[in-house]
This record gives sequence, structure tokens and C-alpha cells, in this order.
Amino acid sequence: MKYRGRKDAPIKVGISTCLLGENVRFDSGHKRDRFITDILGDYFHFIPVCPEMDVGMGVPREAVHLIDEPGGTRMVGVRSGKDWTTKMRRYSDRRVKRLAKDRLSGYILKSKSPSCGMERVKLFHPNGNPHSANGVGMYTEYLLKEYPLLPVEEEGRLHDIGLRENFIVRVFAYHRLQELFSGRFSRKEVVRFHTIHKYLLLAHSPKHYTQMGKLVAAIADYKPTEFQAEYSQLLMEGLKVKTTTKKNVNVLMHIVGFFKKHLPADDKKYLLQVIDDYHKQLVPLVVPLTLIKRYVDKYEVSYLADQIYLSPHPKELMLRNHV
Ligand code: SF4
Repeated sequence: MKYRGRKDAPIKVGISTCLLGENVRFDSGHKRDRFITDILGDYFHFIPVCPEMDVGMGVPREAVHLIDEPGGTRMVGVRSGKDWTTKMRRYSDRRVKRLAKDRLSGYILKSKSPSCGMERVKLFHPNGNPHSANGVGMYTEYLLKEYPLLPVEEEGRLHDIGLRENFIVRVFAYHRLQELFSGRFSRKEVVRFHTIHKYLLLAHSPKHYTQMGKLVAAIADYKPTEFQAEYSQLLMEGLKVKTTTKKNVNVLMHIVGFFKKHLPADDKKYLLQVIDDYHKQLVPLVVPLTLIKRYVDKYEVSYLADQIYLSPHPKELMLRNHV
């Protein structure tokens, strides 16, 4: 039975098939990534796509590369020069459109591949000499064009803890956004959605936080489809901005302000001390957050209890445990 992650997971993530351990690479091998299969697989149901197998290249096969030409990029066999461009372009166009039915909330791609790579894919001159390394895989070109808001990452970049957390935050947020806009939506639902995402947004991009506050306040001036498009774009753009210690400290201090009436002086002093330790990078973010969650429960502060910022992804992923 082929591995597809958690079968009943509501969140579906597209993936380059070789990353799941299937022998679909040109050399009959695979590129199984343990973080993806052993950890993310507990939360996501994977939809695998191998463009090179799907266009009929088979295994083992001649490797292909991308030729940069004035008329556009071509995909050709490295030794034979066999041209796969038309087949791959037609296939990619059809396949990414068909993915709409899967309602993907994210996509993980194999880096450097002439079909699947997201960035820095090698390009060659028609004579076979290296040209540059700023290409995009041919299939991925269509994917990114069709789903500009979809969180997309490469397996190599997911080994960077900051990029990993950012991607996972966006996948979960995009899934919630898809749920919000899955049918007719009310102003009340939008306001609630926006309210619970406020601190998360502030931790990523104060600029988007302000812009989106104005957008939600003016919701009555928009047609539903226009509002949905504008709100979705700003949210996904804002969350793509990386969090920093400074931005997290800002959010933590907002939270302390919210607590003012509830916290006894000694608890508040201790919380401020822990936030300062985090600011100095003596402890990871999970430390002040764990304390805040305890106070939120203890003093029953419902506005804070609902904030996605406090739990944007399962704690088992241990994404906030690094200094
Ligand atoms: S990188 Fe893409 S095309 Fe290449 S083997 Fe993996 S899934 Fe298939």
C-alpha cells in the first residue's frame, strides 16, 4: 500500500511523489524525506504527482533538463535531445486544473527538479552549456500560476526551522480560509475569523494587520466575491512575511496589556520576566506562550483563548521550541 499520510486528515497537501519514497526518479530511486513522511504525514493527506511519470517517461529514464531560449523554456533529454516540451506543458496545464477538485491547502515540491523545482532550477543554453540557476520547474510554473495563494515549499527549505514554521502556519491558515469561504459567508463569520487571527497576523506583518482591519471594517462596501479575493490575498501575503523575535515580543506585550485587569502583580511580573528572557533569546517562544496559555485558562480570558496565535499548529510539531 502506497504511503499517503493520514488518510482521514481534512487537510490535503500536494506533493512530488518521489518525496514519499516511491521509486519514480529517473534512476529508479526516490527521495523520501523523513520529516514529511514521519511527522507531517500525521496531519496531512498527501496527493502525489509525478509529472515525468505521468507524461510517459517511465523508469529508469534519461534525465531531462531545461533549455532557455528566446521563444521560451524547452524540456529536452540530456543525451538524446528528445523534446518533451509540448507534452509536459499540455499535461501540466490539465493536471494543475484537475487539482482544483482536491482543494489542496498546500504543496511540497522536490527542489532542483526541471519538472517540480520551485526556484533556482538549472537552465542550459541550446548547446548544453550551463546558463543560470534561476529557473522554475515546468510543471511548477503552471501550479504557481493557477494557485497564486496556495502555500508552496520545497523539501530542502523545510529543513530551515523558520521557513518550516512559516509554511505550516500558512497551510493551516489557508485551510481555515477555504472553510470560511466554502459557501455563502456572513459578515459575522468574517469578523469572527478575522478577530481570532489578529495576533497571528500582527506577529507576521503589522502592515497587513492594519490594512486588513480597514478592509473588514468596510466589508459592507464590497461585493462578496471582491471581498473574498481581497481578504484572501492580504491574509496569505501577510502570513508569508516571516515572524521575528521583535514582532513576537510586540504581540506578547499586547497580550500582557489585555491581561492587565486579571493578573495579580506577582504573576504579571513573572510573565514580563519570561517575555524578557525570550526577547534576549534565552528561552524559546514556547516558554512565554505556555505561561500565557495557563493564565488564559486560569482567568478565563475568552478573547485570548480564541486567538490562533496561541496554537496555530499542533504542538507535537515542536515549531516554537527553538531559540
Ligand atoms: S522530482 Fe517530480 S518529476 Fe522528478 S521524480 Fe520527483 S515527482 Fe517525479
